[in-house]
Amino acid sequence: MPDLPAEAAIQAADTDLLAEITALRAELAAQQRTIPALPAEHDMRRITWRPWQQPPTPIAHIDLACHQCGHPGPQMLALGFVGSEKPIIAYQANRCPSCQEMRVYRRDPAPLTEIAYHPPLSGGGFPPATTTEETNR
Ligand SMILES: [Zn+2]
Repeated sequence: MPDLPAEAAIQAADTDLLAEITALRAELAAQQRTIPALPAEHDMRRITWRPWQQPPTPIAHIDLACHQCGHPGPQMLALGFVGSEKPIIAYQANRCPSCQEMRVYRRDPAPLTEIAYHPPLSGGGFPPATTTEETNR
């Protein structure tokens, strides 16, 4: 009866797969909950943020990969508007979609100035490159 063990093996594989899907879904939900909050105001100006988006055209001279977790990028981009009558893009934020490291910049008035930094979360999809080097010593 070679059919029975094979069927049991398939059922075990199915169970493993289901457990893996459940774990991945939990991880995804955790990542979506942990997107860092954007500042609501800066320098006495209220900032209205547009939703996070993928940059439409990658900029060639910028390295797209995340230095923290090695995610190939591109980073997510959010634009912040100020002013009620003629809103201008005065702020922008860049965020790694994997480890959630985030930097917020003021871009008006120039020059581009970093105003907020959110460090990467541990447990992102890509392990930090430094851990193996340190533990192998
Ligand atoms: Zn990252």
